Formats: sequence, C-alpha cells, structure tokens
Amino acid sequence: MRIFQKGFNYSQDGFGNRLVYHLQGCNMKCPWCSNPEGMRWEGVLITEEEWLLDEVCPHHAIRDKQLDRAVCRECKGRECVTEHRTKGIRLSYEEIEVDALVEEIIGNSPMFYDGGGVTFTGGEATLQFDELLETLKRLTAAGIHTAVETNGAHPRLQECFPYISQLIMDCKLCDEEKHRRATSISNAQTMENIRRAAELHPCLHIRVPLIGKVNDSEEDIRDFLEFFQSLRDGNVTFELLSYHEFGKKKWEQCGWEYQMTDAAHVKEETVKKFRDSIRGLGLNYMRT
Ligand code: SF4
Repeated sequence: MRIFQKGFNYSQDGFGNRLVYHLQGCNMKCPWCSNPEGMRWEGVLITEEEWLLDEVCPHHAIRDKQLDRAVCRECKGRECVTEHRTKGIRLSYEEIEVDALVEEIIGNSPMFYDGGGVTFTGGEATLQFDELLETLKRLTAAGIHTAVETNGAHPRLQECFPYISQLIMDCKLCDEEKHRRATSISNAQTMENIRRAAELHPCLHIRVPLIGKVNDSEEDIRDFLEFFQSLRDGNVTFELLSYHEFGKKKWEQCGWEYQMTDAAHVKEETVKKFRDSIRGLGLNYMRT
C-alpha cells in the first residue's frame, strides 16, 4: 500500500488515541485540500527549499535551491530520493505490504487508549480498495477498533461496512453540478453511499468541510439540512469543519499554485447558524 503520512492523533480522526494512516491517491481534486501531497496516485516530489541541495541531482534539476520539475518529469532514476535521504526533497509516499502494515498496527495497539484504534484516511483511502478491505478484515479479527475517513465515492464501499467500527464520511455539496465543479467528479455515488451507511452502519459521522463561495450559500445549507433530515439519525452524528489554509505551504512544496483566496474563509455566524439548524432538527452534532 502507498502511505504518505502516518502518526498518532487524539480524537480528530476517530475515537480516542489513534494511529492514523494517510493513503496515497484521490479521485477528487479539491483546491482547498490540506493534504495535496496525497492527491496523485503516482505521488509527488516534496521539497523544502531551505534544505534543497544541488548535489543530490545528477541531472542538474536543482540550482540555487530551486527544483526544475520539467527535468524531473523525464527522469527515470530519481537519484535524489533513491540514492539520497535528505530533508530537502522526498517522494510523498512509502510502500508497505498488507502483512507488514497489520503487524505494525497490532504492535502499536497498547497505545490505543480511550477507545482508540487505527484510522485510514487520505488522500482517499478507498482508492486502494482491495488492500484496505483485506487490512480491515484482519484488524477486525484481531479486535482492533477501525475507522475510515472517506469521500464516499467508491462503488464498493458497503463491502467494508462490517469491518469498520467508525465510518467518517465527507459530504461536500448536495447539488451534483456544483459538486462536479468543486471536486471534479459527480456526488451521485457519495450521496448513495451516505444513505446506505445511515441505514446500515451502526456508527456514522458525517462531516461538511465548509468553504466560502463553494458550499456556504443559503441554498447549499438548505440542501444539506434537507438531506441530513432524510437520513436515519440514531446512528449518525454531524460536524462542520470550517475552511483553513493549513495546506497552503504544502501546495507550494509540491510545486503547485495554491488557488484558494480569503473568500474561502466562512463567517463564524454562518457556521453557528448552520450548526444550530442541525441541532434544531433534533440531529446529533458531534465536535471532534
Ligand atoms: S527526480 Fe531526477 S531530475 Fe528530479 S531532482 Fe530527482 S534526480 Fe534530479
């Protein structure tokens, strides 16, 4: 499996203390993504200008702490990362076999306190579907609490339900055309999977990343509320996550322009009104 980040986190990616794995690759292209290094399946070279050394590239793609990515695109050897290990340049992901991953997780299980466990997120965790499903099955058999954070767009997501203790799903927009414009793909499968999860999964947490000028209009919020109200609610919790620009530096380190502007910040009063409306419908709001 391709993993671009891993580490412990408390409560934000599931209950308790969790070992969180970020899986490489995503089928959406959200310009506000805070983990852009995980977007492309093929990975990306991440640079830290301060530590970038000319001498790690035999093809002269690095000069004066600047990387010429046009040269890298033609490069077969990638000597900068295959022959060197520096802070200045690295490939976004590392590969690990399912056997080794399961062993690593079980070995860390003494750290899973307060109802914790392991979380798979991304990128989009379900892009590596077969490996993810196999891993979830083995961890469930070992009694490990599992959480998956997903954009919900995989057509076989339901197959994973019996092996996911806590399912965390993003709901970015209810309007299909707007969703396509914002993320590059339709939301039809996501909406269907959220409906199924609300019916079938015992522990579903739905998150809305609230982005100014993308999904914070009165019409968008009305659509969300209508959709949420239509879901079975005893097993479902909801949460709003306001836009932040934590990912900005990472976009630059990947060599990409960060296109979000200040307009993406959502007014606190909009968030509060939306949150109050969710509670007003008798739905369960859960802050993580
Ligand atoms: S990918 Fe190739 S061309 Fe680019 S910095 Fe690394 S070694 Fe040089």
